[in-house]
Amino acid sequence: MHGLITLSFSGYLIYTLVVTHITIMAVTIYLHRHQSHRAIELGSFPSHFFRFWLWITTGMKTKEWVAVHRCHHARVDTEEDPHSPVTQGINTILWKGVIPYRKAACNQEILTKHGAGTPNDWVEKNIYSKFGQIGVIYLLAINIILFGLPGLFIWLVQMTWIPFFAAGVINGIGHYFGYRNYDTGDHSTNFFPFGIIIGGEELHNNHHAFPYAANLSRRWFELDVGYLYIQMLEYLGLAKIKYTAERLNTPLPISNRWSLQQLNQHKLQLLRIYDNSVNKVILKGQNTPNKIKKLILKSYHRLSQNELSKLTSICKDNPQLEKIVELKTHLHDILHNTHVSEKVRQLLDWCKTCRETKINCLIEFSSWLESLIGDKQHV
Ligand SMILES: [Zn+2]
Ligand SMILES: [Zn+2]
Repeated sequence: MHGLITLSFSGYLIYTLVVTHITIMAVTIYLHRHQSHRAIELGSFPSHFFRFWLWITTGMKTKEWVAVHRCHHARVDTEEDPHSPVTQGINTILWKGVIPYRKAACNQEILTKHGAGTPNDWVEKNIYSKFGQIGVIYLLAINIILFGLPGLFIWLVQMTWIPFFAAGVINGIGHYFGYRNYDTGDHSTNFFPFGIIIGGEELHNNHHAFPYAANLSRRWFELDVGYLYIQMLEYLGLAKIKYTAERLNTPLPISNRWSLQQLNQHKLQLLRIYDNSVNKVILKGQNTPNKIKKLILKSYHRLSQNELSKLTSICKDNPQLEKIVELKTHLHDILHNTHVSEKVRQLLDWCKTCRETKINCLIEFSSWLESLIGDKQHV
């Protein structure tokens, strides 16, 4: 079966990579950063283009995607999370992630509670929502007219691309395997530092730390190609970046005083700086084996029962490690669970405890923290 265009194998491959890349960009820029989190504003041209592209290449509806995703953030890694490998198993989410996604997308309560603010115009009501699955049939016809039989194979790749990479890889591996920049209260990970194939969504721990940030990379080696496109759209006057998160710096980077709002925004960054400038320094000084290092650096609330008892017995024989673990847990509690009116006072008390330990790196960290929050006029 011949189509209008005949390409070499590499030609078909490049075409497939380009069209699937556009689909991934529609997901990360339009559905995720724009519609779900409002981290950017999009002009009507890119907005309508992405909506059309998603309809014809995936059949996904904006309201459903947004509602399921916001529900994921609100209930992350609990029994009520629509897709968590922690509660549903990595194999279920990685290989069959589209099933829990569909189940949640059909849940009226989720749609009502989390789907507010998504498009509800004529084209949404009369085409995208009404004929949700017609777009992908048109795409099949277009592919076959253009390329003949190879067009069918390209279509099959297009149909599996999002269910596998978005519903499977991001939702599965992104909460299961990889490194973490931030001690978020969930299991999110950055599973690959170069966000090209999934447009930057590979940096999932960075995203959970700052869900309202348009940029997903934080360290010098991390790449977020989705954000590069957003910057290009902004340059062309087609988008506006509303909020970005700061890049991560070396320990003790900030010298200006913070307001309470800044303190709340940067709590995960503070915990990371504590790890770098206290925990890692002590562990290096004690020549601690890697296995124990991992336990100390893992957030306390993410430890399994087994890991918890191992850590307790290690700390029993090592008062210095016991102190730094205890102080980090306390700092985490103050930053996450204390009422704003009490936060500064408790942090200053915490700094005082650090000084009493006479451990140099702790004293250095606490003086730096005091310099950020100490002047109550600014807090
Ligand atoms: Zn997540
Ligand atoms: Zn999100």
